[in-house]
Amino acid sequence: MEKEKGIDSVLAGVGITKTVKVGLAGNPNSGKTTIFNALTGAHQKVGNWPGVTVDVMKGFARRNGYTFDITDLPGTYSLSAESKEERIARDYILDHRPDVIVQVIEGPNIERNLYLTLQLIELEVPLVIALNMYDEVKARGIKIDIRKLSELLGVPIVPTIGKRGRGMRRLMDRIIDMAENPGEYQKPVKVNYGFHMEEHIAGIENIISLTGELKKKYPSRWMALGLIEADEYVAARVKKATSMHEKLFLDVMDIRKHMVDMFKIDPEEYITEQRYGFINGALKESVEIPEKEELSLTEKIDSVITNRILGLPILFFLMWLLFQATFGLGAYPMEWIDMGVAYISSFMDLILPAGVFKSMIIDGIIGGVGSVIIFLPNILILFFGISILEDSGYMARAAFVTDRVMHALGLHGKSFIPLLMGFGCAVPAVMATRMLESRRDRIITMLVVPLMSCSARLPVYILIAGIFFPKQAGNIIFLLYIIGILLALIAARVLGTTLFKGESSPFVMELPPYRVPTGKSVVLHMWIRARLFLRKMGGVILIGSVVLWFLGAFPKMDTIPPAIEQQRITAEREYNQALANAESSEEIRNLQSQYRDRLQQIAQRQNALELEHTFIGRIGHFIEPLVAPLGFNWQMGVSLISGFVAKEVVVSSLGVLYAAGDDDQSDLEQAIIRSGITPLAGFAFLLFTLIYTPCIATISAIARESRSAKWMLLSVSYQTALAWLAAFIVYQGGRLAGL
Ligand code: GDP
Ligand code: MG
Repeated sequence: MEKEKGIDSVLAGVGITKTVKVGLAGNPNSGKTTIFNALTGAHQKVGNWPGVTVDVMKGFARRNGYTFDITDLPGTYSLSAESKEERIARDYILDHRPDVIVQVIEGPNIERNLYLTLQLIELEVPLVIALNMYDEVKARGIKIDIRKLSELLGVPIVPTIGKRGRGMRRLMDRIIDMAENPGEYQKPVKVNYGFHMEEHIAGIENIISLTGELKKKYPSRWMALGLIEADEYVAARVKKATSMHEKLFLDVMDIRKHMVDMFKIDPEEYITEQRYGFINGALKESVEIPEKEELSLTEKIDSVITNRILGLPILFFLMWLLFQATFGLGAYPMEWIDMGVAYISSFMDLILPAGVFKSMIIDGIIGGVGSVIIFLPNILILFFGISILEDSGYMARAAFVTDRVMHALGLHGKSFIPLLMGFGCAVPAVMATRMLESRRDRIITMLVVPLMSCSARLPVYILIAGIFFPKQAGNIIFLLYIIGILLALIAARVLGTTLFKGESSPFVMELPPYRVPTGKSVVLHMWIRARLFLRKMGGVILIGSVVLWFLGAFPKMDTIPPAIEQQRITAEREYNQALANAESSEEIRNLQSQYRDRLQQIAQRQNALELEHTFIGRIGHFIEPLVAPLGFNWQMGVSLISGFVAKEVVVSSLGVLYAAGDDDQSDLEQAIIRSGITPLAGFAFLLFTLIYTPCIATISAIARESRSAKWMLLSVSYQTALAWLAAFIVYQGGRLAGL
């Protein structure tokens, strides 16, 4: 594979292969990413959310000596540059000058998709259409005369079934044709905007043609239309490109005024209407959609799932089921991995010579990484569930169902999407807030996203809930997720009425048809998660474990504390005396085992003293007064601090800290129970983990996306304060209530 790539780039260097720059455009959920994956074989998230691919994705494909340099553009319904995605897509086309744009069209929804097609045609980019979801087109009995439609639009159309990789080769061939000879394969097609409008357009084009510079830069008809539509971004580009913009702008203003006077219609509205008129005309000649006699299956399912009364309970039930499965089913493979880790640990114990290195391997690396890796199955199960919900189209319904709640809280319905993504990881969720147009909505959403339980918190939940609430663990975890959601909604409400006053803007919720999730996409989802998790294992968690081990192992005490030495001597003396007086062999055996226990206790006391002497012990004692009111011991305090790096590190820290304080390598759960933590404190700890400051990656994402340190600091401080308060209230309140 690597070798092949090398040869290709050499060939390209001497001009034997050609690189074709391709941009994939299309409406959200048209299957762009699916086709991108089918073409490039790249592993990439396939989600139903507009916004999952808000970042531009790149990949490569090869065919017949051509290398395709493919960019997956954000999904857009148009190119009017009203949203961030539209601007990204349009700027890419205008500034990066791709050789070919492939528009992926959602076949069953061809009418709406063609709006974007018209805009691409007006931009005069070499265009190839992938008529995707052709399987659904057929299944629904829609008849599309592809040749005819292709003629009407003047561009090549290739039917594809992205999900099964059908049509990819033909698509690539058409791309090559188009790249080689756009003039032959694309016919100039124009939307007729009507006599008057055409006159105006021509007038503007005329002025543009006088400015040599501008004409060369962008298609003049496109510019004229953009100016008449009062598209600010077109205006800005025109302004930048020519000194004659003032004259142009004056004329455009006249035209707009004239249109409003004459036709009592906004020019933008008029232009949109004309485009739809063109589309309808084209479809009438080339597409046959069967008459609907009854509700489609999707509509039937939707009448239940998005039902006013049933919708929310169904959503909650599905979530509850998911977390039950995550914990319940996960328990089995978890045990196997746990056994494997224990085996490796005892194997290392056998082969390594005693000393600092051995301690680092066993207590540091295996103790730390080993305590987190056992949660891999849980994460896989969670994402198995989430990707099924997502791919089937249920997640869109979840957004729909919660839309009313979101509006009641003063948030945009669209905010629900980043919030949902927060279940996976807050970093992409924070980035997904880009799909929100108003800055107010963006910042509020960004600030509350970290309250959604990300998958990194799951190991902590499973460990602690499993220890203190073994029978109820699934319910406790579900409860934590719910508390997170409620807190996020409350926080959004508070932020929305204090820091950011104002209304959220309206928007239309999409309801894509239900689809049977493909095994491939589900596996891909799980694999992406697993890979991320394993990478973290080898990265921050490994380093964190070693650092923590080091802090917990040094400095060493020079001598054994005299008090401990004294205890040993006393124990030995008393043992010998008792032995001398012993009468039966049974009594001797009893004495021996008592003595052994006593020595072990003394050893544990010694270990505890040694640990307190180390760096970590000192840090722990320093923060102990802060966490003591919450019922935590200093080990828990330290692990929470280290969780700032990544939430899984809370678990690996506990693993390392307890391994250091305990001589026998008994497992972490036993050690925590023995350290005298009450279930109430355990629950407070879970709450703290849920609420407190997100990891470094999230914080930097918030800083980046909000472009302000202020919001980042607010995020860190309000969450940590809230976490402490919540844990305090629960722990102290619970104790008062006698729990
Ligand atoms: P994007 O957001 O526009 O990039 O679209 P995606 O690639 O995420 O695809 C949206 C959904 O459509 C996914 O569930 C895909 O599995 C599904 N999908 C993609 N191509 C096809 C197809 O040809 N036929 C069918 N039935 N479903 C498809
Ligand atoms: Mg996509």
